[in-house]
Amino acid sequence: MPNNQSWGIDTLALRKGQHRTAEREHAEPIFTTSSYIFESAAHAAECFANETGEHNIYSRFTNPTVRCFEERLAALEGGERAIATSSGMAAILSVCMAFLQQGDEIVCSRSVFGSTIGLFSRMMNRFGVTTHFVELQDLTAWEAACNDKTRLLFVETPSNPLSEIADLEALAHLAKSKGLRLVVDNCFCTPALQLPLQLGADIVVHSATKYLDGQGRMIGGAVVGSDKDMAEVFGVVRTAGPCMSPFNAWVFLKGLETLRLRMDAHSASALDLARWLEEQPQVKKVHYAGLTSHPQHELAKKQMRGFGGVLSFEMQGGKEAAWRVIDATQMLSITGNLGDAKTTITHPATTTHAKLSPEARAEVGITDGLIRISVGLEDVKDIKADLAVGISN
Ligand SMILES: *Cc1c(COP(=O)(O)O)cnc(C)c1O
Repeated sequence: MPNNQSWGIDTLALRKGQHRTAEREHAEPIFTTSSYIFESAAHAAECFANETGEHNIYSRFTNPTVRCFEERLAALEGGERAIATSSGMAAILSVCMAFLQQGDEIVCSRSVFGSTIGLFSRMMNRFGVTTHFVELQDLTAWEAACNDKTRLLFVETPSNPLSEIADLEALAHLAKSKGLRLVVDNCFCTPALQLPLQLGADIVVHSATKYLDGQGRMIGGAVVGSDKDMAEVFGVVRTAGPCMSPFNAWVFLKGLETLRLRMDAHSASALDLARWLEEQPQVKKVHYAGLTSHPQHELAKKQMRGFGGVLSFEMQGGKEAAWRVIDATQMLSITGNLGDAKTTITHPATTTHAKLSPEARAEVGITDGLIRISVGLEDVKDIKADLAVGISN
């Protein structure tokens, strides 16, 4: 397969990383094998002596289908190497294990995925790692939380469910000036809409479970960055074992093939729906970075190619009104998942953010009337019609 550096994103998504076998197969094969055979005792010894992952030894270390997904995702993110993991959380855990030791500190946006907060504040702390949570737009707070023990800055943008935007270039600049790594969870945008490494981030993490699959079938994740950093992450995955299954890698490969088309469609439908919601008198506020009413719309336009498929809106009338909208839907899926081709609807205050105290929820802006929608690929008119029943009721 030619490795053309000038390939565009759609060509990379379809062609990058495929190494055909002697069978001349057209589609990527799934290598369901736990181990690999050697030509001789000397060849085995040579492979075992090389820990870079160049030679197949055992599928916890490397697997050709998984490697194909890694090469393709790395190319799309503009990184030197990607390491696939069993889930998005396994990707974040692997970054922690690769770059932190007892006594180190993390500075993290307070508006990140709930399990990321749990991992940092309830688990990593047992291993002597302290995390400071800061408001994602407050650069002064990020800087003030850094000290000589800080190793990682961790951010997710746009945030879930309020679509707040972190200034990635500014955070990358802060990380560089202090010799830290900036880690960006790029799950909501994917490389189709945002390229954190190009904006100066050091590491991108993914929950492939969301848009990389795009059809809600599989759990998986990945870490992307420089060869040097990914050698550390590979060491963790190889030894500790949070590796991706080859079957899942194959499904994610198929997902990547249509990634840009899907993300553009999700973005267009989400913008259409957000504008419509803004016109409904029963809706107090709509949170979506694509709206000109969004306080960071200009920054979002600068660092994103599109605004993604997730939006949230606040109903007049609090929890009762929000639950009424959700319960009146006939087509939308009531589920906590997002990044699916099917539209999903969630009440954050009583599900994804229920573990937070009411005060903590209020502080991060998760009100009782808030509804999150992950806008899918159905006709937008049908999504509107399904929501209109409960909104206008
Ligand atoms: C879902 C999600 C994760 C965790 O990924 P899993 O694949 O569920 O482990 C991490 N970050 C974000 C932003 C997510 O939405």
